[in-house]
Amino acid sequence: MPTPSRRHGTQKTNHFSPNTVYKPAMTTMLAGPAPVHELQPYKSLLNDELTRRIQKVRRQFGSQLLILGHHYQQDEVISLADLRGDSYGLSQNAAASSECRYIVFCGVHFMAETADILANRPEKLAERGGVRVPVILPDLAAGCSMADMAALHQIEDAWDQLGEVVDTNDITPVTYINSAASLKAFVGRHGGIVCTSSNAEAALRWAFARTSRVMFFPDQHLGRNTAIGMGITLDQMPVWDPFADALGGNSEQQIRESKVVLWKGHCSVHQMFRPEHVTMFRDKYPGIKILVHPECPREVFELADVSGSTSKIIKTVESSPPGSKWAIGTELHLVNRLKQQHPDKEIHFLSPVVCMCATMYRIDLAHLCWSLENLVAGTPVNVIEVDAETARWSLVALERMLEVK
Ligand code: SF4
Repeated sequence: MPTPSRRHGTQKTNHFSPNTVYKPAMTTMLAGPAPVHELQPYKSLLNDELTRRIQKVRRQFGSQLLILGHHYQQDEVISLADLRGDSYGLSQNAAASSECRYIVFCGVHFMAETADILANRPEKLAERGGVRVPVILPDLAAGCSMADMAALHQIEDAWDQLGEVVDTNDITPVTYINSAASLKAFVGRHGGIVCTSSNAEAALRWAFARTSRVMFFPDQHLGRNTAIGMGITLDQMPVWDPFADALGGNSEQQIRESKVVLWKGHCSVHQMFRPEHVTMFRDKYPGIKILVHPECPREVFELADVSGSTSKIIKTVESSPPGSKWAIGTELHLVNRLKQQHPDKEIHFLSPVVCMCATMYRIDLAHLCWSLENLVAGTPVNVIEVDAETARWSLVALERMLEVK
């Protein structure tokens, strides 16, 4: 019987805090000459002035420029976006545009990577005669706490350790789209698949049609909530802690009996919602419905009336009758926007504390204006470019996702 080696486990260095300085993933190359415009002066400009200058650049580039705004983005930024949506939908729509020559992604780092992979895939490059569409992230500090909880070397280390206990040919790696391109490429190379919060169950079914075991990263909650809905029990889902000494803190027996090995990662925003918040809203507002994102912990997810992706949350509120009462467990900016857009409904944020995506919030009008005016000057800043090999394998995993229904 193979014995796991004790050489494993990683240094405890990358747990997220709002003050974390985001380090771009290894697969990202930042290219270009020194910027004509420095950032600092933009920080003292008023929002009206910044908005006027951003609009000027938008008029100048016309349909060649696409500013993408994620649903969790702050209002003054998202009001200037050409497209709004979730991370994959935005990348897909931008890549589908035949006129687009520049993408500015007001989201976080992994989203810009996905946009680069899709917009600059081989057939798109061929259509444009080899011309790349630069994808710009206005502030490189806009990372994702969840994506940062799984680094490639940690995943490779876990895979090696799993291989000392079970056959890795019988494991399908599944990564949530909220992950670095290097992880998507790992999944592509190892016969795995990417999933979103909308199609996680379909991706798991796809995986179980091929192997008897799945390794799911980086969000333990999405993995657990989805697998429970498929009848997989908690004792079949050990959690892999990359900082544990060996086997992610599990015994060999736990690994052998596992169906889904969950990565110990989470979203710092959705992790904040607690079961007592659900109880409090139900006590205080009789008839209220609880609507949550599947990145929330299981204890909250199981108490909710409705759960689903950001798009499903928006559609659920839109299609509910006037007078409906909702307490929503997802990012604060989106909930506040839904509140403004639906004054005929009673909408509450499902937490007494502020849960907002602090890293996405770093993309403000000053960074947006600075990155756009450098684009005009011919010195694009913060260009996110995934190396060809990583992009190729990431695309394999993303294309598998598109095949599942
Ligand atoms: S809300 Fe959570 S998962 Fe989404 S980008 Fe922010 S930290 Fe990442």
